[in-house]
Amino acid sequence: MFKPVAQGVVRLGIVFVNVFALGEPGGPWLLVDAGLKGSASYIYQAVVRRFGMGARPEAILLTHGHFDHVGAARDLACEWNVPLYAHPLEMPYLTGKSDYPPRDPTMGGAMAQMSRIMPDHGYDFGHWLRTLPSDGGVPSLPGWRWLHTPGHTPGHISLYREADGVLLAADAFATMNLDSWSAYFTRKRELSRPSPPFTSDWGVTRESIEKLAGLVPRAVAAGHGLPIVGDNTAPELRRFTESFTPPRRGRYVASPPVTGEKGVEELPPPVPDPYARRAAWAVAAGTIIFALARRRRW
Ligand SMILES: [Zn+2]
Ligand SMILES: [Zn+2]
Repeated sequence: MFKPVAQGVVRLGIVFVNVFALGEPGGPWLLVDAGLKGSASYIYQAVVRRFGMGARPEAILLTHGHFDHVGAARDLACEWNVPLYAHPLEMPYLTGKSDYPPRDPTMGGAMAQMSRIMPDHGYDFGHWLRTLPSDGGVPSLPGWRWLHTPGHTPGHISLYREADGVLLAADAFATMNLDSWSAYFTRKRELSRPSPPFTSDWGVTRESIEKLAGLVPRAVAAGHGLPIVGDNTAPELRRFTESFTPPRRGRYVASPPVTGEKGVEELPPPVPDPYARRAAWAVAAGTIIFALARRRRW
């Protein structure tokens, strides 16, 4: 079931990732991201409860094309016959032209270890895709605008509603510590760097977080973790920005991949993987965590 974040903003947690719906029942509304593969009927049921039987969004906005944000995109676009909007620089990974830079599990931490069993390929959503309006507007919802917040992926976007300072950061940063195994159970609210194994440019990631902190938001909700709301939100985000540090090691920490309109053009060489030996138990632990987390809707 969708849970409230702010007026006209609701969140649906799917295992470890969030999907959002923007807009009020009875009016135009948008779905933001499409969760994991196989979650279409779960999202669909939540939509019926929130917006009513037969309701369909004006469109689905994709903040970026990682597997955990677009898993049910095709099924839902077909079901509702609605377009998928994304940033032009994300298109190579959504039109079958390029895979993402290979995930980098070498820096350690929970998500890095679990990423060994996660996909990093691109998708081809073909004729369902549209490019976001170049003026920063969001289709059908004039109070919202999108902001280009690259770093995690080249065409990553966040969404902002100026009137009440609501920020949907997607994977520009997270509101839980994705490196910590226990955080997947406790859901402790904590501003944290975006998923390390899937973030390809740490310098640009930092710039994007600074840009978002500059908005002085009053509520932030990210792709991973529970929303953070209240007077302390902006000061907390400011402190997080000032103390932001990329992982100490990793394939993309010193030199990011070169990407362009056609996707990935050049990759830095692979780095030694100090955790390879521990990978087997980590993958097993990750599988158990996922199985347990799946039972707990959050
Ligand atoms: Zn992502
Ligand atoms: Zn994500």
